[in-house]
Amino acid sequence: MSLKEYRHKRRFDVTSEPEGKAVKSVKATKAVKGHRRTARKLAFVVQKHRASALHYDFRLEWGGVMLSWAVPKGPSLDPATKRMAMPVEDHPIEYNAFEGIIPAGQYGGGTVMIWDRGTWTPQAPDVDAALAAGQLKFSLAGQKLHGSWVLIRTRPRAETGRLSWLLIKHRDAWASADDVAERQPRSVVSNRLLAEIARDEGRDTKRAAFGDPPAARIRARS
Ligand code: MN
Repeated sequence: MSLKEYRHKRRFDVTSEPEGKAVKSVKATKAVKGHRRTARKLAFVVQKHRASALHYDFRLEWGGVMLSWAVPKGPSLDPATKRMAMPVEDHPIEYNAFEGIIPAGQYGGGTVMIWDRGTWTPQAPDVDAALAAGQLKFSLAGQKLHGSWVLIRTRPRAETGRLSWLLIKHRDAWASADDVAERQPRSVVSNRLLAEIARDEGRDTKRAAFGDPPAARIRARS
């Protein structure tokens, strides 16, 4: 786990994204003299990102960084709907607070919204082993996303050789056929739509608005 790739892709004199502190490995729990000391909970965040293509960046805190996947269609609460999740570079934990604009021409240029956030708990304590085995089961306690989920690695795609994962909701009290991305399109920290974030930063609202659901766009105008 390292922020090397993250930093290599960005120019911190141009973008307002955080550079991130040096990574020190953090374990969720530590056995101290026979006592099981529970550290603070692990953070998760989902950032809706209107870049060249709209996607949702799904991030889980682990090992001092945010493990990150880009989910083009966003999480689904329906256990029958598997959502493609492409692994992307680890992000700094400070990134969880980032909402705003990445300047055009920069890596990921576009509008970023904090779509959901909260804490997560791995089902088994050895997250590294679960990731290596290609199946990570966990629960989320967010404002939009709750309950039990799994990330499952699929075979590498023949064309690219790139590994891909699927993000799937488990059947539980939080499973639903509701389209959460469509019904809850606003930021959990500012209650803004993408177009409103772009507007506040003096940027192109039309481009950002393509990431807002049509119904929300109309409500925002009236
Ligand atoms: Mn992104």
